[in-house]
Amino acid sequence: YRWPTRRLKIYMETQDKPLQAAFRRAVKAWNRTGAVHISWCRDKDRADIIAQDGSLSNTAPSTNVGYVSSQLGSTSTEYNPDTHALIQAQSTLDAGSLDYANLNFRTEVAEHELGHALGLAHAPEYMHSVMIPRNVKTGITKEDRTTVRLLYGVHQ
Ligand SMILES: [Zn+2]
Repeated sequence: YRWPTRRLKIYMETQDKPLQAAFRRAVKAWNRTGAVHISWCRDKDRADIIAQDGSLSNTAPSTNVGYVSSQLGSTSTEYNPDTHALIQAQSTLDAGSLDYANLNFRTEVAEHELGHALGLAHAPEYMHSVMIPRNVKTGITKEDRTTVRLLYGVHQ
């Protein structure tokens, strides 16, 4: 699963300042991989990705990927089942669980969720990757950069 284009628009839905900072840093970090260029847009209807907050304790696991067990973040995507092209993604961070975490950790969780929004699946636990399930231990790594560049057809 991937977007049909490498130029994507994201809309900041959350009003929560610590989460906004985490999303902004996460967008910059994914852009630094050179695989995609995500830019902020003010028109929600034209956005590919929505950056939002929400309380994740009541979400149904079947409709979400991501932090189902730790309830820190979650991402849902809509895609075309024939082409596997992504159509819309919503990344949610839980303000209640993350506002008291430090900025680096919050950013890593935002990077993980935006990774799902870009079409990345979970990486196996032994990998050095921001996409390992449950507890994030790192931000975007060289391996993640390679994975996302392969997904979007950018030469190494
Ligand atoms: Zn996840």
